[in-house]
Amino acid sequence: MQVETLCVHGATPFDKTTGAISVPIYQSATFHHPELGQSTGFDYSRCENPTRNELEQTLAMLEQGNYGLAFATGMGAISALIKLFKPGDHFVVSSDLYGGTYRLFNDFYVPYGFAFSWVDTSDFALVSAALRPETRALFIETPSNPMMNVSDIARCAALIHEHGGLLIVDNTFLSPYFQNPLPLGADIVIHSGTKYLAGHNDTLSGVLVASNRELEEPLRTIQRSEGATLSPFDTWLTLRGIKTLPLRMERCQDNAQRIAAYLAKHPRVERVFYPGFTDHPQYALSCVQARGFGGMVSFYLKDANHVPLLLKNLSLILFAESLGGVESLMTYPLVQTHSAIPPEMRAASGVNERLMRLSVGIEHCDDLIADLDQALSLC
Ligand SMILES: *Cc1c(COP(=O)(O)O)cnc(C)c1O
Repeated sequence: MQVETLCVHGATPFDKTTGAISVPIYQSATFHHPELGQSTGFDYSRCENPTRNELEQTLAMLEQGNYGLAFATGMGAISALIKLFKPGDHFVVSSDLYGGTYRLFNDFYVPYGFAFSWVDTSDFALVSAALRPETRALFIETPSNPMMNVSDIARCAALIHEHGGLLIVDNTFLSPYFQNPLPLGADIVIHSGTKYLAGHNDTLSGVLVASNRELEEPLRTIQRSEGATLSPFDTWLTLRGIKTLPLRMERCQDNAQRIAAYLAKHPRVERVFYPGFTDHPQYALSCVQARGFGGMVSFYLKDANHVPLLLKNLSLILFAESLGGVESLMTYPLVQTHSAIPPEMRAASGVNERLMRLSVGIEHCDDLIADLDQALSLC
């Protein structure tokens, strides 16, 4: 089945008991048992919920894995995943990644005895040099947030597997429509379902997908024990978003390609970061491991004094955190998504006071360019 069809119909195209086309929202905390020793398979919604099961199965199929697990947020998913490991374990992590992930690892898991090395994982030599005997996992974001560096998933998988560890890929930026890390060798895929999967800036959600039963079992136990599971209604919103994922991704990408080209020629813009540019350092790699370049565009303004003016004067493009929704959002990573990352580390990865990140939505591209044009002309 093609991905477009799978997104619309999901794992179960209609509800078996009622015929409902839209997956029912099973808003029930607990489930009745007919008698001792008998169960419908559902006991308590922290452990299993029929609506959430549908999302989990759909995501497993979309990522070409076997097991999906849905969490209340992307951070909830990542925090659950770390509990597969033990204090003393070491991780090699992309230095350019979502600031909340940095904060979670550095501020919360380092004090519990986990160790993290932050490296530019798009440079394979640096990744292999960072491995230690106690390295248990490589955690990459590709393309990275916000610099759009692309890491080689298959090579990273081979390297860490030879070392006896796991490859974990945050696939939020491209979504399963454009990239599937599991068939390339990754062990676990993460999504902030808040972004492209749900796609409408109206819910938070998080996802893990694995292929291997030996990983699914402990992850499921952690999910059920910790309880940061996705609520039935937020699950339904995520499922509803997924139905149009392919259409939205195509439109976001078309718009992003045009906007990236427009920005690259603008006199107030110094440089544009977009993996779909043929001169992007990992353009060839993107063409091999992904089916698209996505809808995220970052750029440096020439003058940091123009940042507040640009943010104030945009009218259609909204100045807000987050990404992957139908509305175009402009983010200032330095003070928003990446404020938790120490200044030296931010500077080394290129997140400076002139960097802007644009999540391109599905509006008409002419309107988006007109808005950028008027706002930049007022700078
Ligand atoms: C937003 C985001 C997260 C965190 O997800 P939440 O749903 O906000 O908890 C993790 N990774 C990436 C790449 C993100 O963009």
